[in-house]
Amino acid sequence: MQICKCGAVENTETEKIFSNGTKHIELRCKGCHTHRGYKPQGKFEDFSLWFGKHKGKTLMQIYKEEPSYLDWIYANVAKDSMKKKIEEVLKIGIAIEKK
Ligand SMILES: [Zn+2]
Repeated sequence: MQICKCGAVENTETEKIFSNGTKHIELRCKGCHTHRGYKPQGKFEDFSLWFGKHKGKTLMQIYKEEPSYLDWIYANVAKDSMKKKIEEVLKIGIAIEKK
């Protein structure tokens, strides 16, 4: 981890929802609160919902428990970046089922 110009090493992490529907973890210096970038996002398999009855679950978990809910999100809630993630999950899910 880089040392900030103020001398602090640690960052604070804040969850932010972007207008495109993706979740980011913003890093700020614990000392001077300078914006220090964003934590790399996890893979889409790790992407978890922050709303609704499946809040906190990953898309893959939801696919296994209630695939129709993914369809619903896709049609009603998801923006482009999230649609891509759901498409990937569906592709993988279908591939797993075929095995
Ligand atoms: Zn600082």
